[in-house]
Amino acid sequence: MPHVSIIIPVYNEARNVPVLVHSVLHTLATTSYTYTIILVDDGSTDGTLEAIQLLAQENAKVKYISFSRNFGHQVALKAGLDAATGDCVISMDGDMQHPTDLLLPMLAKYEQGYDVVYTIRQNANVTGLVKRKTSNLYYTLLNMLTDVPVENGAADFRLLSRQVHDVLRNMPEQDLFFRGMVKWVGFKQIALEYTPQPRASGSTKYTFKKMFSLALNGILAFSKKPLYLAAYLGILFSGLALLYIPYIIYSLAYGHVISGWASVIATITFFGGVQLLLLGIIGIYIGRIFIQSKQRPTYIIKQSNL
Ligand code: UDP
Ligand code: MG
Repeated sequence: MPHVSIIIPVYNEARNVPVLVHSVLHTLATTSYTYTIILVDDGSTDGTLEAIQLLAQENAKVKYISFSRNFGHQVALKAGLDAATGDCVISMDGDMQHPTDLLLPMLAKYEQGYDVVYTIRQNANVTGLVKRKTSNLYYTLLNMLTDVPVENGAADFRLLSRQVHDVLRNMPEQDLFFRGMVKWVGFKQIALEYTPQPRASGSTKYTFKKMFSLALNGILAFSKKPLYLAAYLGILFSGLALLYIPYIIYSLAYGHVISGWASVIATITFFGGVQLLLLGIIGIYIGRIFIQSKQRPTYIIKQSNL
């Protein structure tokens, strides 16, 4: 029977961790799989680590990695992938929003020969209207700008075969967006749908800032298209400028005075804005090259029982 590694990134989920771990243990108890649960404590400050350590004392299947500070959800997933040794790996959230009922159907797909079993969140009312709409808009934009199609509602709840796991583990990028990376890898993939439950306890750990940075990362890590914007706009405006020349000649020839000030100021500020925007886009990409070139460790482990 294959060995299954279950990776759960947690940030201030002290009350959810025992509930989730027991639910996973309960679900897998009836099967003949051997398995390990790897909890990645992403610098929690609410006693999450202590809760995990208690569970680890009770059950040798419970392993943990604890970061020196909060590094973020995607980085915690990466640490889990680095540590996992199973024949397949399942990642899920630590707040009970990813139903443990889906574990067995996922494993069944794996047994049928799929390398990636990913999940799509059904748009339930649990997800607020604003979040649903912005998510729709974002995935439309993402798919316009990148060549890696990611479905709206794609979640970081998925199973990976050993082969895909090895590929992902060896990808050296610092700016992580697993939803895109998993699609990019290829192999035999299948989606399962699930209805998210309300968070068991506490509130979302994805602040607006974190969500925004994840969203931006998805685009910037998978697309060069924003960089081409300068070239496209350049061609467009040069074309428009050329069209303007006959008008100037006509005006001069027939003695019309070309009224200047307002149109000149408007043009200068407009193009000033466009140039700053494009410089900013180039700057963002250079910043990413800078971070990547420093080759700092992606995360720092403070403590672990692995
Ligand atoms: N999480 C994390 N580090 C962070 C933020 C979140 O490890 O900096 C974990 C969190 O504990 C949870 C998962 O990532 O297990 C998903 O986060 P959350 O449920 O808050 O996001 P939402 O479901 O609201 O999008
Ligand atoms: Mg959640």
